[in-house]
This record gives sequence, C-alpha cells and structure tokens, in this order.
Amino acid sequence: MQLIDGKSLSKKVQDYVQSEVEVLKKEQGMVPGLAVIVVGDDPASHAYVNMKEKACKNVGFYSIAHKMPVTITQDEIIEIITMMNNNPHIHGILVQLPLPPQIDTNKILEVIDPKKDVDGFHAYNVGRMVSNLESFVACTPLGVMKMFEEYNIDLEGQDVVVVGASNIVGKPMASLLLNKNATVTVTHIFTKDLKAHTSKADIVIVGVGVPNLIKEDMVKDGAIVIDIGINRLEDGRLVGDVDFDAVSPKCSYITPVPGGVGPMTIAMLLQNTLTSAQQFSKIKEDN
Ligand code: NAD
Repeated sequence: MQLIDGKSLSKKVQDYVQSEVEVLKKEQGMVPGLAVIVVGDDPASHAYVNMKEKACKNVGFYSIAHKMPVTITQDEIIEIITMMNNNPHIHGILVQLPLPPQIDTNKILEVIDPKKDVDGFHAYNVGRMVSNLESFVACTPLGVMKMFEEYNIDLEGQDVVVVGASNIVGKPMASLLLNKNATVTVTHIFTKDLKAHTSKADIVIVGVGVPNLIKEDMVKDGAIVIDIGINRLEDGRLVGDVDFDAVSPKCSYITPVPGGVGPMTIAMLLQNTLTSAQQFSKIKEDN
C-alpha cells in the first residue's frame, strides 16, 4: 500500500505558484489577487477562509476577506461581488459555502465574472468542463486529478465509483474522470446497494461527510481509494469517510485524512487564481 501524500504535493504546487508570482511581479508588475466572501460565523467556514488567506500570503498574493454578518441580504452580497468583478487588482472571487437560507446560492454564483470564478462553480465553467473545454474547475476534484497525475495513475478504462454527488465534489469529479476515459459510476444517498458498486471498482472516490462509511468489505484487493470527506469527531479528531485502518491494507494507493485531498484543495485554489491573473495579464498585453 502506498500513501498518496497530499501535503507534500500541495507544497510542490504552492512552490510553483510562488515562483510564477515572482515572474508576474517582475515582468508585468502584477500581483495576483483573491477576494473571499464569507457570510455568518460558522467556525468551519472561518477556519477554511483563514487557511486560504494564509496560503495566499505565503505565495505572495494580494487577498481580501469580506466577512459579512449572517443577516446580509442577497442584494448586498451581489453588490460586493460586482465591486470585486470590477476591481482590476482582483483575479479570483470565492464565496465560501454554505450561505444562509435567505440567500439563493445559485444566483450568487452566477453573478461572479466567469473569468474570476476560481472555484469553478459558475454554470459557464461547469458547462465548459463537462464539454472537456478549458475552464476553471472546482478545486477539490481538480486536486484529486492532480494526485492521479503525480502518481502516474492512468484512468483510461478504469472502473471508478464516485460516492457523493454534490455540485462541488461528486459531479465535477465524475466529469473530469469521464474526460479521461474512465468508466464512471456515481452513487449517492439514494443508491440501493452501495457496496455492490464500490466492491467492484478499481478506484473508489468518496466525498460524503459520513465517518467510516467505506468499510473493509466494500473495497476490492488492490483498489485505489481517495477520501475527500472531512469529519470532526466528538473527541476532536479529524477523519475522512473511509475506515482507514481496516481499508488501507487492501489498497494499492490511499489518501490519508488529514494530509490527503484537503491540502490539495487549497493548492488548486492558488493555482486557479494564478492562472486567472496570467490570463488577465495576457489580455492587458494584447490590448
Ligand atoms: P453534500 O452534503 O453537499 O453532499 C453529500 C453527498 O453525499 C450527497 O450527494 C449525498 O447524496 C451523498 N451521501 C450522503 N450520505 C450518503 C450515504 N450514506 N451513502 C452514499 N452517499 C451519501 O457535501 P459536500 O459539500 O459534497 O461534501 C462532502 C464531504 O466532502 C464532506 O465531508 C466535506 O467536508 C468534504 N469536503 C472536503 C473537501 C476537501 O478539501 N477535502 C472539500 C469539499 C468538501
């Protein structure tokens, strides 16, 4: 069994981003900028936003966090996004999800300029991704794809089961795998017999939010298991969706939690923001 080390791969990506930021600064006098909007005081959302701000600082980005009260109206969020859309120092805009119930999340995501949609959630980018065209891609599934690339895991013809079908994890994950010619099955809460699917898969990718959902008898010998889940247990421990101790001896590769997919998500956010800044610098040059 080989561990897929998301922490060191994330560091490698961040070092690359940092070196490219230096180039942009030197050659174009440009600093990539990321705006993060977080609403309410959910501790997990704030922890993610703080991590993102710290990562931005480490690679030399400019970053602004708009920390808004839970009572904010939809129009007020739209106003902030419009300001960021028009701000030439901002190349990436991220709205930390979930949003409070009075806000229509889809509406908010559609207001973001697709050229600054570094989370890849805008329908324009989602459509392009599904069509296998160049686009911003959601950071978590993109991070998983980067792991496959780094570990030379060929996806063509592989039977892959994705567990979880959310717009931000499972669905984009399935599209990216299909674009690489994998045979993809997407499972979710209404799937009749989850084990029947996972136990036949060459690769199992789980992003659900249920600790220990994937048990030893649900995975075949030699399978590759990617655990996207992040769950905080009552005793404070952070675990994924896979019963790691029981499942890992059967795997050819597996990601740990923490230290697996989590750090890759942040690295891909930085990579997407860098790409956006590079694209904007090209537009400036062409004009
Ligand atoms: P979500 O609640 O939007 O979606 C969960 C999905 O899991 C749904 O499709 C649901 O049908 C499915 N599901 C729920 N219970 C199930 C069960 N018992 N069997 C099969 N399918 C089931 O959640 P999300 O935003 O997609 O996040 C999923 C998990 O991934 C969470 O633990 C979240 O913290 C984690 N996550 C991690 C990262 C990262 O960077 N590693 C990023 C985003 C989300």
